[in-house]
Amino acid sequence: MHLLDGKATSEEIKRELALAVQERKRNGKKIPHLAAILVGNDGGSLTYVNAKVKACEQIGFESTLIKYDESVPEEILLAKVQTLNDDKSVDGFIVQLPLPKHIDELKITQAIDPRKDVDGFHPVNLGNMILNISGFLPATPAGIVELLKRNNIETEGKNCVIIGRSNIVGQPLSILLAQNTNPGNCTVTLTHSKTKNLKGICKAADILVAAIGRPGFVTEDMVKEGAVVIDVGTTRVIDDSRARGWYLSGDVDFEKVAPKCSYITPVPGGVGPMTIASLMINTLKAMELKGK
Ligand code: NAP
Repeated sequence: MHLLDGKATSEEIKRELALAVQERKRNGKKIPHLAAILVGNDGGSLTYVNAKVKACEQIGFESTLIKYDESVPEEILLAKVQTLNDDKSVDGFIVQLPLPKHIDELKITQAIDPRKDVDGFHPVNLGNMILNISGFLPATPAGIVELLKRNNIETEGKNCVIIGRSNIVGQPLSILLAQNTNPGNCTVTLTHSKTKNLKGICKAADILVAAIGRPGFVTEDMVKEGAVVIDVGTTRVIDDSRARGWYLSGDVDFEKVAPKCSYITPVPGGVGPMTIASLMINTLKAMELKGK
């Protein structure tokens, strides 16, 4: 079994991006600027946004964090999105999801200028992805594809089973891995909560991706010997024996499943850091696309 080390791979990407920034500085060019909007005090969201800001610092990007109280009205958020759309100093920005219930996430996503939508959630970018036109790929699926690529995992002709069909992970990943690209050319099965015989389907997978948000859902009897397993899940599980009172769990029962795999991602240190690396790649691209 080999560990698919997303942390190490993301560090490699960040070093490349840092070199690109230094090169731009030498040539008197603009430094990429990422802005992030965070609403409320959700611990998970705070951790993710802080990690994104830290990655910017590490690479040498400029970053701005804009925080709002949980009760912020939708109109205020929409107005801020418009301000960021118009701000020439900002190359790309994200609105950290999930948002409080009183805010329509789709409305906010659609308000973002697709040219600054470095999370790749805007319908224009999702459409470009389907047609394999250059744009911003959603960060998590793009990070998974990059992880497979940089670790020389063969995908062509492989049976890939994805558990979970969210708009930000499962669905876009199913499209990317089915495309006539490398990595790609998989035969993809996209499964969800209504799927029948999930265990049997998973058992036939050469590449199994779990993106559900249920700790330890994927057990050893669902995994073929020699499979590549990608664990996207990140759930905080209460654990009073730990100083911070919780630990982060993936969707895969790692201890039992890992010995059967050819490759497997850990949680943490697998898909999470790759998601951040993809966001950084998109931010540099946003600036370059403007010809700056
Ligand atoms: P989501 O919107 O929470 O949706 C969960 C998906 O799992 C749905 O499609 C649901 O099916 C499916 N599902 C739930 N129970 C199932 C079951 N028993 N059998 C089969 N499918 C089942 O998904 P998400 O936003 O992609 O998040 C999934 C997990 O990934 C979460 O833990 C999240 O925190 C994590 N995540 C991690 C990263 C990262 O960077 N590491 C990024 C994004 C998300 P239905 O559609 O039928 O309801």
